[in-house]
Amino acid sequence: MKHDLSSAPARGHVTLVGAGPGDPELLTLKAFKAIQQASVVLVDDLVNEAIVAYAPATARIVYVGKRGGCKSTPQSFIERLMVTAALEGENVVRLKGGDPFIFGRGGEEVEALQAAGVRVSVINGITAGIAAVSSLGVPLTHREQAHGVVFITGHAKPGASGTDWRALANTARQSRLTIVIYMGVSGAAHIQRELMHGLHANTPVAIVQSASLPEQRHTVCTLGELEATIAREHLASPSIIIVGDVLQGLLAADVGGDALTQSPRAA
Ligand code: SAH
Repeated sequence: MKHDLSSAPARGHVTLVGAGPGDPELLTLKAFKAIQQASVVLVDDLVNEAIVAYAPATARIVYVGKRGGCKSTPQSFIERLMVTAALEGENVVRLKGGDPFIFGRGGEEVEALQAAGVRVSVINGITAGIAAVSSLGVPLTHREQAHGVVFITGHAKPGASGTDWRALANTARQSRLTIVIYMGVSGAAHIQRELMHGLHANTPVAIVQSASLPEQRHTVCTLGELEATIAREHLASPSIIIVGDVLQGLLAADVGGDALTQSPRAA
């Protein structure tokens, strides 16, 4: 759905567009049309170049991620750029990986645009967590194995203000939840250690790198082996870590074999 989030009088317009997990075919038709009509496109990291290429040749393309090893553009600069372009009458598309409202700072951008009196609308994208789980052929929820799902960042710093992984593990066990962790690879040791206070070491886990792209690969292991498996298989960002009993069948199938496999979608 395209959601119009603004009630303020129109003074320019920005569309936050979800580019999906990577595969251009997973883009929504609405997103595709919005990109084709853009005159200015602000592009995040992890947006496939093939999707950026749908913009008109005349469009101004601004990369605001960490491409080329540069530090990412400050959020305040991105917001100012969007406001200025919108007020100049440009058709501004803010292209974000996955869904704009899942860990994409989309909420902050909407607030900044609305504060400047700019109209904002949002076009959803398929978030990486959903694409990653589906690519393994397992559901996020299941009548017997999972009654719900938690999307959570692994990036929050440990400590008082960070995620209480122990509490989450207990809730996930008691309420039968699948845990889908974004940005969790570098903090996997801490996450594993903390989750094991509430979940068994033999809880199935999967790590999916570059979901939906030709270079996708994944491995399935147990929670107790999470960190060692990531290190051994050199799994890196962008990856999704999935924890939960929906992976039980996959874990059983992988036991004794080489768990690391290329995606069935890979060429
Ligand atoms: N808004 C995005 C998430 C942005 S946070 C979304 O909805 O998907 C960036 C994190 O998303 C990465 O560190 C990684 O954990 C995850 N991610 C993004 N694309 C991915 C992909 N193709 N495969 C696996 N993980 C991905």
